[in-house]
Amino acid sequence: IREHSRIYQIASIPGDGIGVDITEAAVQVLNTLSATLRTFQFDFKTFDWSSDKYLERGWYMEPDGLEQLKKHDAIYFGAVGSPEVPDHISLWGLILPIRKALNQYVNVRPTRILPGTKSPLENVKNEDLDWVIVRENSEGEYSGQGGTSHEHSDHAVATEVSIFTQVGIERIMHFAFETAKSRPRKKLTMVTKSNAQRHGMVLWDKVFYEVAKQYPEVEIDKMLVDAMTVRMVLHPKSMDTIVATNLHADILSDLAAALSGSIGIAPSSNLDPTRKNPSMFEPIHGSAPDIAGKGIANPVGAFWSAAEMVRWLGEEAAADALMKAIENVTAAGVKTKDLGGDKNTKEVTEAVCAEIQKLQ
Ligand code: ATP
Ligand code: MG
Repeated sequence: IREHSRIYQIASIPGDGIGVDITEAAVQVLNTLSATLRTFQFDFKTFDWSSDKYLERGWYMEPDGLEQLKKHDAIYFGAVGSPEVPDHISLWGLILPIRKALNQYVNVRPTRILPGTKSPLENVKNEDLDWVIVRENSEGEYSGQGGTSHEHSDHAVATEVSIFTQVGIERIMHFAFETAKSRPRKKLTMVTKSNAQRHGMVLWDKVFYEVAKQYPEVEIDKMLVDAMTVRMVLHPKSMDTIVATNLHADILSDLAAALSGSIGIAPSSNLDPTRKNPSMFEPIHGSAPDIAGKGIANPVGAFWSAAEMVRWLGEEAAADALMKAIENVTAAGVKTKDLGGDKNTKEVTEAVCAEIQKLQ
């Protein structure tokens, strides 16, 4: 047996609200995992970048913040957002610059219904819903381009420019096809709105069909985003891997998380597939100010995100073990309120740690 042969440097950014609670829980679970398996260790460095600090200091990240992050093997992120800071300021102060500067052009959002939980919709059986949503994470509708004129009159005009590049679409499509190919059903659904948006979305469609030629083993179909919401609710079993733009996938993945039981369980990975920069792992939920500081946030999305991080670091067996521990805990009915249970963050965390320790 290798003893602690590898030390992973992890940058941890708890951020705001329940981001703080669930990051603490995730660190505890990751440390329990490494202490139990004894084949690797984590060295966490915590960055206190948050909305409270922004209000105090006037900035989210130090000027060399991105350089500091680059020194790590991976980044673990909690959440950012505060009732006291406009959301576009906090998002553009922290999470969006990281995704862009570190070339994290893919956002992966797996969705499943965990054992011992169920969908809020009666027609959706647990085995019917097993998706991976691949979200374009670097351009499109969140390019940040545009402007406002006549801002201080009653006739303000604002433009929000979506940018789609051939290179940007090609690389996300390749990632989506590779993902689809690696899964048993080998099925990829591409989401678009090319009936109403006649430039970027048309290019998106065109590149999709071109890249598809290189993956004859993958079964493909195309959906308009509006019809897609209906299909997700009524026929979840008809889909497997899904690829969509930054905005569309953002919305569809919240719907997917709700269909799978709670937004509190859903994980996400912001990946730089070239591996030249660290990738970043975070639950899809936000800072949830309504339940912040109460100790009742569901930490499952944080643990699942941690498992995705462990997998990306190359520790497949450890990632599988962590997922198994999470699933044993939900199966045993140890759940927070959002999943219909009566446990708090600490109780769920301790139950997952106890499951991990049974591995030894
Ligand atoms: P953001 O703008 O950062 O995406 P948001 O305002 O969309 O945030 P979220 O924080 O994502 O809101 O969550 C919406 C609601 O879902 C919360 O107010 C909370 O009630 C619930 N919720 C989110 N995450 C969790 C969790 N981990 N556990 C329990 N409930 C949660
Ligand atoms: Mg949200």
